[in-house]
Amino acid sequence: MPDGEWNALSAGTGEEGRESSPSLAVLAQQAENHFERHFGRPPRWLVASPGRVNLIGEHTDYNDGFALPMAIERYVVLAADQAPGGTPRIDLFSAALNQQQTWCPTEPQKDDLEPWSRYVDGVLRLVWERNLRFGALDVLIASNLPLGGGLSSSAALEVATATLAEAVSGHTLDPVDKALLCQQAEHDYAGVPCGIMDQFAVVFGQQDHLLLLDCRSGETKLVPLTDPEIRVLIIDTNVARQLSGGEYAARRSECAAAAKHLAVASLREARWDHLREQDDALSHRLYQRVRHVISENERTVRAAERMSAGDWDEVGALMYQSHASLRDDFHVSCPELDLLVELLQQQGRRDGSVIGARMTGGGFGGCVVALVWQTGMARLAQRIRQPYYEQTGLRPRLFTTRPARGAHVLRSELPRLGE
Ligand code: ADP
Ligand code: MG
Repeated sequence: MPDGEWNALSAGTGEEGRESSPSLAVLAQQAENHFERHFGRPPRWLVASPGRVNLIGEHTDYNDGFALPMAIERYVVLAADQAPGGTPRIDLFSAALNQQQTWCPTEPQKDDLEPWSRYVDGVLRLVWERNLRFGALDVLIASNLPLGGGLSSSAALEVATATLAEAVSGHTLDPVDKALLCQQAEHDYAGVPCGIMDQFAVVFGQQDHLLLLDCRSGETKLVPLTDPEIRVLIIDTNVARQLSGGEYAARRSECAAAAKHLAVASLREARWDHLREQDDALSHRLYQRVRHVISENERTVRAAERMSAGDWDEVGALMYQSHASLRDDFHVSCPELDLLVELLQQQGRRDGSVIGARMTGGGFGGCVVALVWQTGMARLAQRIRQPYYEQTGLRPRLFTTRPARGAHVLRSELPRLGE
């Protein structure tokens, strides 16, 4: 994706505060045009599936805890049509990668299938097992989500595929089953052991709402964020994330080890008195990990409650506390993330334009998420870009969004005359 699409707030261009990424309608039109150029006829189906950002509740999902994600106004759009021949066969073109793959998702898996198409393949195989039927399909992927940027283009692609399969087959999946099936596709076919947050946010996202997700039960609760003056600002540090895979696995096994010490099934069950009693038995490092998980779960539930009450001071304070805990107790931040959060906090103190900010995602790079007031956006962008560049040599990429609707069908046409 061209860098400009991320640079919603490019300073000095007169574009401050305005989104430069195509809106969904424009992206859908691009997908339709591209499909027609590529396959020689208009698509019969168009589906949209958003990315997501997590506002608070980090490194809690694999501890059976709480998270508060939302869908964002950046999407994967699939344009598709039936192709001649009734047997299941997929002709898949990714505009972002300029690559095409063709295969039969009901025949034994091909070893040479490109990794990016395995997300689609996995979902199609799993929906087929649930009796969703489709024949030969031509499919084009258009997207304004960065690939591998921490905003879950992978879940967007999986859920888009499941939504397309629903439209084509005329059968709907239970939404929880749909999210879990997409997660399973990512585990079993793409080989990524992700939690359930991404797929749930993409399936259950609602305009003007966040989603309080209980990762133990899979229950979701909508949390309104209706004030149109509040925007969600996402800033990409632009740090290449090299160590994150190993560090992520290390945190997971530390949490599992700590849960064993505390004799609980997961750190979700751990309580402060457990932790105090086990103070001597746990290493300082494991103690810190538990302290993060217990406090982060408390902050997440509290943030959802205070957000509903419009108590922005407390929501902001909880976001800053979350960042400090991830930095000091969970050790997953990095200097660039800390710098962005500090710059945002300073600006908030100066003119009140920032409600709260924290790192989001696995850490060691990736993005910062902030809640900001729309009116201060232009000044804020300038106050962040320059000092961040001076101190890191990196150009941060910024854009704002409101909580968006989850995956949905944009167009589903009946067969054309004569078919
Ligand atoms: P994230 O989910 O944070 O974007 P991941 O590494 O989990 O990062 O998923 C990114 C992968 O998803 C890409 O490397 C690619 O395989 C697949 N993917 C996402 N969007 C597209 C797209 N538009 N075209 C092809 N593959 C895509
Ligand atoms: Mg992903």
